[in-house]
Amino acid sequence: MSELTTPRIVGFLKTPHDPRVCILPKEVKRLIDQLKMTVLIESGLANTLQIEDSEYAAEGAQITDKSSVLQQSDLIISIDHIYEGEEVKKNASFIGIYNPLFYRDQLSIYLEHQRTVHSLDLLPRTTLAQSMDVLSSMASLAGYRAVIKAANVFNGIFPMFTTAAGTLSPAKVLILGAGVAGLQAIATARRLGAKVEAFDVRPAAGEEVRSLGATFIEVEGYTDAASAGGYAVEQTEEYKARQKELIHKHILSSDIVISTANIPGRKAPVLIEVRSVEAMKPGSVIVDLAAEQGGNCELSKNNEVINYKGVTIIGNSNLSLEDPAADLRLVSNNFF
Ligand code: NAD
Repeated sequence: MSELTTPRIVGFLKTPHDPRVCILPKEVKRLIDQLKMTVLIESGLANTLQIEDSEYAAEGAQITDKSSVLQQSDLIISIDHIYEGEEVKKNASFIGIYNPLFYRDQLSIYLEHQRTVHSLDLLPRTTLAQSMDVLSSMASLAGYRAVIKAANVFNGIFPMFTTAAGTLSPAKVLILGAGVAGLQAIATARRLGAKVEAFDVRPAAGEEVRSLGATFIEVEGYTDAASAGGYAVEQTEEYKARQKELIHKHILSSDIVISTANIPGRKAPVLIEVRSVEAMKPGSVIVDLAAEQGGNCELSKNNEVINYKGVTIIGNSNLSLEDPAADLRLVSNNFF
């Protein structure tokens, strides 16, 4: 750990291959006016979002290159990993969204050079830290985007349609995992007029699911862990078998399944078996937001869209990347 000093110079770097950006010009102004910091911006920081360097400069930032940001900053900030062992200030530390529980190996370079890393995705989910909660920002967008993607691919419509030519039934959507992403997916699917069911191992999620107008599916015998801070924990084999059976039953009548179930630092639980996908109607859609952690569906492939016997399976854990401008508006506040 570095000694505690007041950081004075804060530098923002681009993350190659990631369209997201972590700070807006208006938050740069707040850093300078309210926190009396000097702000360095790597040239072209937000080019992907059509925000010019001159807009950052107009709020008081100094525009420079990557090596100057690294060499001069007390705090070095980027969306994801950018450090390759370059020379930085003695007490400089890094802030980003590194997912270190899953990408432990990527931290070795920081360890080797004895650098302090603050990964915003590891902040406690407490009321005090809520304004810095990047996970909630990204998960909300991902839940929303998952429904929009599914609606585009699904060979039907979401709302009930009553016309002179007949009535079309609403789409049936099943949400697995009712955390931040799952609840946003429920709200979005409901707004589009779908009939929504949701399942989560945490009984506490039931009230939130019902308040959004969806039906909560329950499996008895949940193992709670007070120490898990509201997160789900690994369940018994007996529970998992009962759960798979119940989910299979509900998938049979679903047009769309959006799965978001995760256990922090662990492989994602497998909830959608091959036999369940085989039983779905051709034209149905599965969006697996847990694909990066191994997937909730046995067939999902991370960052791939596959078609299995007429069912489209979208494996994508980073759907907030598809709304980088909305992501920026939220995470810019989180990073500030
Ligand atoms: P997450 O991404 O870790 O997991 C998504 C959901 O999957 C969770 O609701 C989890 O219970 C569920 N899940 C795990 N295993 C499952 C299984 N086998 N079957 C079905 N569902 C399964 O969760 P998250 O969205 O990051 O939220 C985790 C917790 O943190 C929730 O209790 C949430 O309310 C809480 N939270 C608190 C704050 C705060 O500021 N206080 C902010 C955000 C989230």
